[in-house]
Amino acid sequence: MTRHAWGQVRERLLSEIGQNHYRNWIEPLELNGLEDGVATFVVPTNFVGNWVQRNYGDRIKRHMSAFAPVTRLEFTVAPAADVSARIQPVDVAADDVAVAVGATVKWESEELPGAPLDPRYTFDSFVVGKPNQLAHAAARRVAEGGPVTFNPLFLYGGVGLGKTHLMHAIAWDIQARNPNLKVVYLSAEQFMYRFVQALREKQMMDFKHLFRSVDVLMVDDVQFIAGKDSTQEEFFHTFNALVDQNKQIVLSADRAPGEIKDLEERIKSRLQSGLVVDLHPTDYELRLGILQTKVARYREEYPDLKIADGVLEFLAHRISTNVRVLEGALMRLFAFASLVGQEITLEKAQDALADILRATDRKVTVEEIQRKVAEHYNIRMSDMVGPKRQRSIARPRQVAMWLAKRLTTRSLPDIGRRFGGRDHTTVMHGVRKIDSLRESDPQIAEDLELLRRALEG
Ligand code: ADP
Ligand code: MG
Repeated sequence: MTRHAWGQVRERLLSEIGQNHYRNWIEPLELNGLEDGVATFVVPTNFVGNWVQRNYGDRIKRHMSAFAPVTRLEFTVAPAADVSARIQPVDVAADDVAVAVGATVKWESEELPGAPLDPRYTFDSFVVGKPNQLAHAAARRVAEGGPVTFNPLFLYGGVGLGKTHLMHAIAWDIQARNPNLKVVYLSAEQFMYRFVQALREKQMMDFKHLFRSVDVLMVDDVQFIAGKDSTQEEFFHTFNALVDQNKQIVLSADRAPGEIKDLEERIKSRLQSGLVVDLHPTDYELRLGILQTKVARYREEYPDLKIADGVLEFLAHRISTNVRVLEGALMRLFAFASLVGQEITLEKAQDALADILRATDRKVTVEEIQRKVAEHYNIRMSDMVGPKRQRSIARPRQVAMWLAKRLTTRSLPDIGRRFGGRDHTTVMHGVRKIDSLRESDPQIAEDLELLRRALEG
């Protein structure tokens, strides 16, 4: 089979199983050869091989057979030494994989309707910072079990902020504490797919029974069922049945329950009946923490990795709030480092990541910042740049200066000029003031985050 043919097979798989699953399970596969109807693949771990075989085996065979007859798939695990030039998942710990294999066996014997859990998404690998500490604490609490306190737990937040990671972490943790519990994780899309399939095959009784017999139900990206009336209906019944039995439910969405359009009111209110927590966009500190953690993990396996001082800080500063993008950048650096075998300096990093940096380049202007901030605090644009010094005007002005310093590449004198010809020391004072208020005043901290999100979004 040619590379091209395998590429086409992969494309079909992508469109059928969706990006997430594709990224987790198909992307890591490397087609090694095809002989006598046996296709062999190199996989990073046994766990991946087993899952692919069980969940996507038939599908892969079917699509490959369009190009050449394939009767069997075989998976071999590549020893780490052979794949040093390839990029490995950074944080697969040996014991994660062991737990994962345990879970596979369990699912095999009981045919639970869930989706596979990513062995990388554990509490251990989740970096906690201000923007996600509440969500993390709630997730921990739910995983600890005990008398059900938050039911449902509803996590929401923008793309790539760790919702799925936290859900998998809860599932792993519950499963590790209590292997007898039936923990089911799946996306709302898969829930719908199962539901429609059950309808079509007249197996609604089985479907209902299956979903009502779980101990912990986790449904990811529930915004997906908005507007899908019969799926919503069924979801609502499943939900109620489980809550009535005191079973834990964990849900996620890209926005708050009340903001999901085309979702029935009674469902919205049920979703809000437990604990609703949001993951805020990452801040600089969290991004840096995540990068440092990932580098440390990577170094455990590849101790030769050398990254110059300031590179991680630069990335944390320049790359947007989405952690997935941040991880992608880091992976690229790792690959680059292993290829050139040299220290990654700031210039090399900028070179290697030019496209990513350009895409996330902030093109916010000082004027836009001033306008947004004036709007937010309900003051006039003319006051933003004018001479008034009372706090109700001066504070928003300082907030705008702080944002200008953070979000643009303008120098302090330059910023001062744009604030009605103020001196650079005034700007510096304002920036420092806000820096310290940010620590002590949660309202200011929230304002800053909100404004930043609005300006960068
Ligand atoms: P979401 O479901 O909110 O879109 P994901 O959970 O898929 O986001 O996270 C995207 C990527 O970022 C994942 O690889 C995840 O492991 C990583 N990630 C997000 N937040 C964190 C965090 N706080 N610590 C470590 N990794 C994180
Ligand atoms: Mg997700």
